[in-house]
Amino acid sequence: MVDLQGQYKKLKSEIDAAVHLTLDSSQYINGQQVSTFENKLAKFIDANHVIGCANGTDALQIALMALDLKPGDEVIVPSFTYVATAEVIALLGLTPIMVDADYDTFNIDITALKKSITPNTKAIIPVHLFGQACAMAELLAIAKDNNLFIIEDNAQSIGADYSDDKTKIKTGLIGDIGTTSFYPSKNLGAYGDGGALTTNDDKLAEKIRRIANHGQNKKYHHSMVGVNSRLDSIQAGILSVKLDHLETFNQKRYDLAQFYNIELASIKEIIIPKEDKNSTHVYHQYTLKVLNNKRDDLKTYLQSYDIPSMIYYPIPLYKQEAYRRNNENVFHPVTEQLCKEVLSLPMHPDMREDQRNYIVQKVKEFFEY
Ligand SMILES: *Cc1c(COP(=O)(O)O)cnc(C)c1O
Repeated sequence: MVDLQGQYKKLKSEIDAAVHLTLDSSQYINGQQVSTFENKLAKFIDANHVIGCANGTDALQIALMALDLKPGDEVIVPSFTYVATAEVIALLGLTPIMVDADYDTFNIDITALKKSITPNTKAIIPVHLFGQACAMAELLAIAKDNNLFIIEDNAQSIGADYSDDKTKIKTGLIGDIGTTSFYPSKNLGAYGDGGALTTNDDKLAEKIRRIANHGQNKKYHHSMVGVNSRLDSIQAGILSVKLDHLETFNQKRYDLAQFYNIELASIKEIIIPKEDKNSTHVYHQYTLKVLNNKRDDLKTYLQSYDIPSMIYYPIPLYKQEAYRRNNENVFHPVTEQLCKEVLSLPMHPDMREDQRNYIVQKVKEFFEY
């Protein structure tokens, strides 16, 4: 699905130098490399504040902690997403309220979302799934009308631009707080775990930094209950190197997606991903919808030719054992359908021409196209 080895070989001298810089400095925790990377990422996405943390799940948890929510408060999340988004809500004693997906974009459905708002709703966590932004203008309007916070789960869409008639802004800075992950296979991936929070709000930024650092703003003075969640210095150095290449990498992902689109668009039994007019697409995943119950057979067929493909995601969140108990009456038709139809093809900036040709050839063969 990705080629981390190939990428490391291409960047080896730069990466090795960055790792050695940290080793030689022996600033293993919160070293210079961490603030250098935070500033560099802030500049890249035009954010007032970037705060590194240990991983994307922690970023979500810290974001929620910064909003002073009370047990029982409801937080809206999509039912078609990675578990981390809902997990942190439950962990903090808040109530995740799941909402169906939009069939075309895979992102949270705005009409369904409106219906799920109650007097207890305090926040929405839209997930910019697979590489493009949710319908943020609509979400901002809903948040304003109902006095809700927005935390953008930007783990899959770092570098994407959201635009409407008036503004153009990077994802992660549209709501109150953005969170992201530097898991190795993400568009901006470390060689280990990492994450960050992004915001333009000075007060929230200060609070986030404090929460991530044991609730202290002065050493051994703890003004609130916090956590220990740090971006590792070695990873920060690696991320600084990779950030210089992010735009090129995202462009290569986009080019590969256009190649897939052209080759696969006319196969009747698949639907190629739809690009939303208000967002650029950074193609964290290239996700097809395979019709007529042929998804699993296509996957097996590709596997028999050593072509990996993945199902993101196979089970609606409300059907997961951990979340089922509180969602017994929940049934989201679009999420259900997507779980049966989606198939993501290999997508990364280092794919060779012979590889991509082979992939589309085998997909076409399967459909006898
Ligand atoms: C990867 C991911 C996360 C979690 O990131 P980790 O760094 O693995 O904790 C959260 N949300 C989404 C949508 C993700 O894709």
